[in-house]
Amino acid sequence: MSKKVLVIGEAREGSLRNVTFEAIATASIISDGGEVVGVICGTDNLEEMGQEMIYYGADRVITVANEDLKTYTSDGYGQAIQAVINDESPEGIVMGHTSIGKDLTPKLASRLESGLISDVTEVTEDGGSVVFTRPIYSGKAFEKKEIIEGLVFVTIRPNNIPVGTRDDSRMGEVTQKSVDIRNIRTVIRDVIRKSSDGVDLSEAKVIVAGGRGVKSEEGFEPLEQLSEVLGGTVGASRGACDAGYCDYSLQIGQTGKVVTPDLYIACGISGAIQHLAGMSNSKVIVAINKDPEANIFNVADYGIVGDLFDVVPKLIEEIKQMKV
Ligand code: FAD
Repeated sequence: MSKKVLVIGEAREGSLRNVTFEAIATASIISDGGEVVGVICGTDNLEEMGQEMIYYGADRVITVANEDLKTYTSDGYGQAIQAVINDESPEGIVMGHTSIGKDLTPKLASRLESGLISDVTEVTEDGGSVVFTRPIYSGKAFEKKEIIEGLVFVTIRPNNIPVGTRDDSRMGEVTQKSVDIRNIRTVIRDVIRKSSDGVDLSEAKVIVAGGRGVKSEEGFEPLEQLSEVLGGTVGASRGACDAGYCDYSLQIGQTGKVVTPDLYIACGISGAIQHLAGMSNSKVIVAINKDPEANIFNVADYGIVGDLFDVVPKLIEEIKQMKV
């Protein structure tokens, strides 16, 4: 049965995050030929971002411009999105399982007494119904869920659902909605980005991660060079963060970021269960560790037993040669 499904877009520095396009692809499956309506809140570039959502499959887009939506707050975005939901009465709402998605959707779902299927990694159609797959128990098992009835929020894990093809001949209306936003209890004084290159770990296609085996802040330099030649970004285990070799914003795992890149290279990481919880769904895992018994080799597709300070420079040279 065809449905109207809202997609809550997410932007960073005036452009849409890739997970928004993944959410549109998900919404298209749920809508089953119904209507996919994009929503984008903020202050800058909203019309252009709305148009981009249409190119990726939204049928129309509603923009909510308000100075109080310049930076995300639970109160501000909660009011804006709820106002759109009240107008549109959708049957499904999709957004990324990002920091914002994880904050906003449970709050709205409980306020609207609706369902929530979070952290979805796969969406399939099975005999007329849509089946959502999500990891449980830190990725050790998967559960499958279906929507039986009523409004349901769905958050999707970045980098898992294939994006539809961009088609700039697609037409659709981008309309503005004004929302009176009140009583924001959070005051954002400044936004300080910790990761220098601005690449979001949760959306990175290639991650070179370092653990305690990297031994120092300087020890991360070869990893940075390797990630640069591969067009990726650097991540870390909590061991490396706790040791002060890098910033906690790089931490991957149960209490860090959950990532699903195409390629994950773990350097000097033992493979503790809490680390695996954040990266074991990566498409290809390469482990470099001098201990052949290290647990990381149990999840790796390719393992290199050796000293990372010998192996990583050789890999960089080889990759550079391949590019010549
Ligand atoms: P270690 O376990 O010390 O491993 C270092 C590895 O480097 C070893 O395998 C060693 O053989 C190898 N090595 C050393 N020198 C070299 C070299 N020159 N070349 C190659 N290999 C070398 N951890 C996370 O990562 N993310 C989390 O989100 C997280 N959350 C946690 C939550 C809780 C509640 C708890 C209790 C723990 C959590 N941890 C988390 C910590 C986790 O249990 C491990 O302690 C941590 O992952 C270990 O980090 P590591 O693999 O870098 O260090």
